[in-house]
Amino acid sequence: MLDQFGIKSALNRLGIEEENKGTCTGDIWIETKETYLGSFSPADGELIAKVQLTDKQSYELVVKQAQEAYKHWRNVAAPQRGEVVRQIGNALREVKSDLGKLVSYEMGKSYQEGLGEVQEMIDICDFAVGLSRQLYGLTMHSERPGHRMYEQWHPIGIVGIISAFNFPVAVWSWNSMIAMVCGDVCIWKPSEKAPLSGVACQHIIAKVLKENNLPEGISSLIIGDYKVGEYLSHDTRIPLVSATGSTRMGKLVAQAVGGRLGRSLLELGGNNAIIISENADLDIAIRGALFGAVGTAGQRCTSTRRLIIQDSVYEEVKSRLVSAYGKLVIGNPLDEKNHVGPLIDTDAVKMYQDAISKAKVEGGKELVVGGVLEGKGFESGCYVKPCIIEAENHFEMVQHETFAPILYLMKYSELEDAIAMQNGVPQGLSSAIMTLNMREAERFLSASGSDCGIANVNIGTSGAEIGGAFGGEKETGGGRESGSDAWKAYMRRQTNTINYSDSLPLAQGIKFDI
Ligand code: NAD
Repeated sequence: MLDQFGIKSALNRLGIEEENKGTCTGDIWIETKETYLGSFSPADGELIAKVQLTDKQSYELVVKQAQEAYKHWRNVAAPQRGEVVRQIGNALREVKSDLGKLVSYEMGKSYQEGLGEVQEMIDICDFAVGLSRQLYGLTMHSERPGHRMYEQWHPIGIVGIISAFNFPVAVWSWNSMIAMVCGDVCIWKPSEKAPLSGVACQHIIAKVLKENNLPEGISSLIIGDYKVGEYLSHDTRIPLVSATGSTRMGKLVAQAVGGRLGRSLLELGGNNAIIISENADLDIAIRGALFGAVGTAGQRCTSTRRLIIQDSVYEEVKSRLVSAYGKLVIGNPLDEKNHVGPLIDTDAVKMYQDAISKAKVEGGKELVVGGVLEGKGFESGCYVKPCIIEAENHFEMVQHETFAPILYLMKYSELEDAIAMQNGVPQGLSSAIMTLNMREAERFLSASGSDCGIANVNIGTSGAEIGGAFGGEKETGGGRESGSDAWKAYMRRQTNTINYSDSLPLAQGIKFDI
């Protein structure tokens, strides 16, 4: 398989060898005392390559180097930092197809989605370049005569980035490209399920940093599982930890970082619903629901997990969806004729099977039957059939995020009830309504509408653009990344008051004369 689809040559061009070091401060790769972690492709079960884990000693070197680099980087003018990020964006353009291929092969998303992920990295670089000239603070009028008051934004220091397997490269760039223009330095721990994508990104960025004569430590890589993640969350030298992954992980990271009064930026699990009203354009609704539910084999934080359908269109939506599911082609994600690739590993397959069984025990009715695919092309054991279950919102399995292509269908009669169902889960990431009725759309978007960080009209729940702030409420963690003013999370705010008068009046008119 490595030779098929040009994987071997892509790996070569990305600097991936059979055995790779995993700890890097920029261009210098550090040998550790740890073992090598194998990265296996869920597409065919083959070992792609190995990466050496980071140990505590090498982690210490990385942090020390980052501290040194920060002293330099924070004083580089922000637009010059933007210039470096511009070059990173260009370097990514050159390797778009190779990196997209690696992401697809290592993580299992389709090649098109792999390319999309790299495009997202390029887009965030462009955004960050513009931002580097716009890190605006406000000025305000002082109540004291002859005084000027304003606020400015300074870099915060070292940003620890912990990322999930399903967006193995884009999530890093959302954080690091913004953090870099803000004047921060970054230490990235990619998912242990997609470490090679991290190694490849480090090679790409190292070249640019070197060409600009920048010191080691501006953007570093560490590799490992939760134990290496804990190095970051417990480290008082890391003022901000940005963590993307499950709610379970986020609660642990939040406790560790909060316990030392550090800042955490959390991007956690979702349980996203689309409301399909009787006023929907059903062609759009079906297409939006289909991509949302089966795209990336249901392994997006924004994947559509629940469809809340108005009584009068329920049967039609149901039969059209069942027929569309019948046309899905499941197979190797690098083969562009396939719609659905594998789950990340066999543990994920087990969770998918358990969720289906439990939902059925709770009373769910399987409309499109799921199951694990076997035989030629499915040797990795990670391919499953997208399934549809008629269910109720209060079922334990419906309340829970299962990272797999399982779609729950439910009915409603009044919009208020549909919104209550949409909001009636612990998570609050993405939501959507399909309707051509302006009143319904605006009610959904109003303060008593969707409680999610993302609320769309006539668009599915997945596929956000980088220009908006991305993130969600409740158990999704409350963090915002990427566009809009999400950059503020990566900086510290300072309020400055300057007295240019010849006296010292006190605020609030307080008298203190001697
Ligand atoms: P995961 O929680 O298993 O792992 C995510 C990362 O956290 C990994 O790098 C892992 O090593 C690390 N980690 C785990 N426990 C840790 C701990 N105690 N301390 C420090 N680090 C720890 O998640 P996953 O299976 O890789 O990804 C799937 C999950 O991520 C889903 O819940 C999905 O919704 C969520 N996700 C959310 C977003 C978002 O933006 N909201 C984006 C992508 C994925």
